[in-house]
Amino acid sequence: MKKQLVILAAAALILSAAGASALAQQAQDPDFAKSVKEWTTRPEFLSPLTDHLPKVSGIPSPKDVLGYYVGTPKKLTHTADLYRYYRALESATKRVKVIPVGRTDEGREQVVVVIADEETIRNLDTYKGYLAKLADPRGLSDDQAKQILAQAKLVYFFSGGLHSAETGPPEMLMELAYRLVAEEGLVFDQVRKNMIVMIAPAFEPDGRDRYVDWYYHHKINEETESDRVPGPPYWGKYIYHDNNRDINYSQVTMRNWLKFYLDWHPPIMHDLHESVPFLYTFSGQAPQNPTLDPILYAELPWLSNFEMTKMFSYGMPGVWDHGYVDMWSPGYLGFMSSNHNGMLRMYETFGNGGANTMKRTVAPEPGAGPGLGGENQTTREWYRPLPPYREVVWSMRNNTNYMETGVLSALEVASANAKTLLQNFYEKSRNSIQSGFNDAPFGFVIPANQADMTRVAFIVNILRLQGIEVGRATSEVKLKEGSYPAGSLIVKRNQPYGRLAKILLEKQVYPDQNLRTYDDAAWTMGLMSHAEVKEISDKAILDVPVELVDTLNVRGTIQGDGSLLAVLHNGSNSLVALRYRLKDVKFEAIEQSFKSGDTEIPAGSFLIPASDRVRTEIQNLSLKAVALSAPPSVPRHDLDLPRLAMFSTWGSTQDVGWVRYAFDHFELKYDLIYKEQIRKGNLRALYDVILIPNQSRSAKSIVFDVESKSTPIDYAKSNEFPTLGMYGESSDITGGMGLEGVVELDKFVKAGGVLITLGVASFLPADYGLTPTIDAQRTTPQFYAPGPIVEAEIMQPANPIFYGYTSKTIPVRYANGPLLRVPVDDRKKEILMRFSGTDRSVLSGLMRGVAETRDRPAIVDVPSGRGRVLMFATNPCYRWQNLGEFNMLANAILNYNDTPKASSSATAE
Ligand SMILES: [Zn+2]
Repeated sequence: MKKQLVILAAAALILSAAGASALAQQAQDPDFAKSVKEWTTRPEFLSPLTDHLPKVSGIPSPKDVLGYYVGTPKKLTHTADLYRYYRALESATKRVKVIPVGRTDEGREQVVVVIADEETIRNLDTYKGYLAKLADPRGLSDDQAKQILAQAKLVYFFSGGLHSAETGPPEMLMELAYRLVAEEGLVFDQVRKNMIVMIAPAFEPDGRDRYVDWYYHHKINEETESDRVPGPPYWGKYIYHDNNRDINYSQVTMRNWLKFYLDWHPPIMHDLHESVPFLYTFSGQAPQNPTLDPILYAELPWLSNFEMTKMFSYGMPGVWDHGYVDMWSPGYLGFMSSNHNGMLRMYETFGNGGANTMKRTVAPEPGAGPGLGGENQTTREWYRPLPPYREVVWSMRNNTNYMETGVLSALEVASANAKTLLQNFYEKSRNSIQSGFNDAPFGFVIPANQADMTRVAFIVNILRLQGIEVGRATSEVKLKEGSYPAGSLIVKRNQPYGRLAKILLEKQVYPDQNLRTYDDAAWTMGLMSHAEVKEISDKAILDVPVELVDTLNVRGTIQGDGSLLAVLHNGSNSLVALRYRLKDVKFEAIEQSFKSGDTEIPAGSFLIPASDRVRTEIQNLSLKAVALSAPPSVPRHDLDLPRLAMFSTWGSTQDVGWVRYAFDHFELKYDLIYKEQIRKGNLRALYDVILIPNQSRSAKSIVFDVESKSTPIDYAKSNEFPTLGMYGESSDITGGMGLEGVVELDKFVKAGGVLITLGVASFLPADYGLTPTIDAQRTTPQFYAPGPIVEAEIMQPANPIFYGYTSKTIPVRYANGPLLRVPVDDRKKEILMRFSGTDRSVLSGLMRGVAETRDRPAIVDVPSGRGRVLMFATNPCYRWQNLGEFNMLANAILNYNDTPKASSSATAE
């Protein structure tokens, strides 16, 4: 094996010398060279890798199909045209295959374009099989592994356009594909021979098309930075930029990519983004997740530094690594690779949010605050020896040159070391299995006797989606940690994705309070779901007999016979779906628990007249019910459904999108309303409950939203731009609800409406006087809480919000909402839940300055006129993660007009 590597390295050395003569032999497109030189704003922004384009008869270049070169000013390409190009390439050569992957929310195709030499393309399934063996090497002898490694090919997967405003990568990838097919020279030959290159042309196809429409409608005439119009209100259907934070793969588009990944196991995924100048190449800086393989942490800077070396040798300034994104959260989309023993790579190049050339100010303005936006990326640092310029005229073609030169350099080093990288992939897979034999925890038990198994099923099925094996214990399990009934779910660590299981299920212990992290510090699935997941350090778990679970289906049960069904409120999020599915049926909620035979029927349980339809839905939704012959003698109330509206700003739809997704998933019906509907007023006549999800940065930005420009910015349907005006329409998205909108919200509440605010939106009622007695304060600059999971204390357990919650304290995700302050005399009545705020109360992740939250309200319920305002300082609907908290929101909606008998059951302070 060693000998072979030496030979490959030698081949790589010869190649740059020989490359030039091969190039000379190919006919070139002179117009391309001329145009690219013209569109590149400075000579040092061009490289010898992208200053020319070969012409090969019979093989279409992007221009042959689309009519323009990649990087042409004012040209962006819709997905249908991207796919049209790749399919033309596929028809013209045996070096390309387009593989369908799935369909998006809006029905667009997702495809992967595969490029390699003819032999490889002919035998793709064989190579896929080799990778599957390396991904799961259980049962392979060392000799067999060597044989497979000798024959296998490295898959290097590129993706662009996950973030729709980052418009360059989907354009560049077409030119890259053409070069990989058509260009001669040792690097290209070596790539085609030693590797399989895959390209996801648009990682978020719905958003790509919407953004391109928006660009042609609103942004095409931008000439300067100050002309720039904000992006469209939506990219994909729901979650905007957070499509790169969908750790549980809720979105159908993201789930399709994961399925493709687990079918193919590409050892390297390289996700192309745009933000910081001129090219940042991810190298996995601290904090690093310690569970991932050390090999990965060595590979990342190796490849990044190679790219920097090459690009500096071409004289290209502003290439750097380190210093931007860390390696803590496993929730970024491309992390599917690192999480499965592969390698996520990532670029940020500099983009203009379109394809217009303009002067850009790169250094931050003096006095810009801390945080990523305020950081100066034009300084010389040890990881940035040739920094970007402070000001620059920047073009789409510059952006293309940078990305493409970087990517071709990456392919040069990867193809020269393809066997090493494959060997590493195999070692990382093997190490993951071995770590399950060597290192505690050796596994996890999810006990089968939990009151609500629907949230257990959520966890298990996400683990299964991630390719993690989960078993069902065939008999009672006895371990040092305790005994668990037969049927309990067992996750053993000695499996290929055992490390990922640990990462997802363990408590996150943050390594250094002084390090900031790019995203969430915590994601522990059991805590987020309020389901019991036991970490097991008894190695005997590896020998527990299990049957492997494909999908965990929880059976709904109905005990006994009778004319009335009591559906147990055990915290399942399917309860609200049951209410909505049977919206014409009379439901009551019981206010106190009682016993029916041996079964405890908890407070909040539904009473429903029995019928076949009701029984069927209870079973479909995996709920538990007990049949009764007569109503119990406990207080109860009607569970009528409110007319519900959800408010969204136009400028910050992302966090609202997560709530929309959850409501759609759990079948709650609501009107999505914007400033237009709020300003029109008459809200109480239309709605009983208005929900303002977490969104934007402050109350002020929720009220005033997108800044007005001299001309209106519409988001409306038209034949020319069919993707605009989806999920809401506006003739001008600027200006916000304004103070007149706030007045309408106040009128709504005073006339008997219920206003619910989540997270940052809870600043609004306090700051704008809807709840004049409540103060909303902010933490000090020393405080730092990147989404830890902390303990909160329920103060009024009898309040319907807490139906289904049985402990006095519960885990909640800290949302950086307001530090609320309630007058002393009102506290007993109005504070429903508060943060414990002790060091011990940080259950997972990092909270620096925890004492600032001590005893601060987490939920308050404030009367106003005939209505009330329910303010969550938490966000009970965060990124499809904290599903244990969602029921507080669902309960608040279902019991919106059932004022709790607070004083009788309030816990003394
Ligand atoms: Zn991005």
